Amino acid sequence: MRLGSLPSMTRRVGLLGGTFDPPHLGHLVVAECARVELGLDEVRLLVAGDPYQKSTTSSSAHRVAMVRAAVAEDVHLSVDARELDREGPTYTADTLEALSAEEPDTEWYFVLGEDAAAGLSTWHRVEEAFARATFVVVTRPGDQAPDDTLLPAAIVHLEIPQLEVSSTQLRERFAAGRATRYLVPPAVDSYVRSNDLYLSRDGDRG
Ligand code: ATP
Repeated sequence: MRLGSLPSMTRRVGLLGGTFDPPHLGHLVVAECARVELGLDEVRLLVAGDPYQKSTTSSSAHRVAMVRAAVAEDVHLSVDARELDREGPTYTADTLEALSAEEPDTEWYFVLGEDAAAGLSTWHRVEEAFARATFVVVTRPGDQAPDDTLLPAAIVHLEIPQLEVSSTQLRERFAAGRATRYLVPPAVDSYVRSNDLYLSRDGDRG
């Protein structure tokens, strides 16, 4: 076979950024719907180190361990913890720049819920991020579709099953001793309980 007739080697990779404190079924459904419905080869869960617009409760080590546990059984999902190695605030534009340099033949899809998309126009160097990845906004219960005039023309809207679950709600449920099974993957439920995460309302930074 001549080289020119080889099939394209371009990979289509989804990135789902988040604090994942803890990761829950909503995250996995977002990743799976994006993968299947956009024909992606894989989705990487990009764990935010020190998100400059959000404060986190658990240490990054716990959050990465929980995301690893959440995706362990799924060959199409993986964890990217590079943002934890960076000092200071985390900017998606920097992460996409580094990924594009490392994997120049990959097409990037940055997936986010409507709540996160509503804040896109305030992101640091967002135009650079838009230039490097196709942004995919998925529906989320309780959130309105963001104002399209603030988004790049190439944005993709994806309707997914509406799961009314959030990390905030789960932290509260763990703290109050309420039911959490089936809202988080079983391995995450065990991890939270065996490490006594979320027991104190003012935060566990363990
Ligand atoms: P918190 O309650 O702490 O704000 P979260 O549940 O929103 O957390 P994040 O880690 O901040 O979780 O979310 C990562 C990404 O996943 C964001 O883009 C968010 O919009 C999206 N997401 C989280 N839960 C859902 C859900 N149930 N449906 C759709 N998108 C979701």
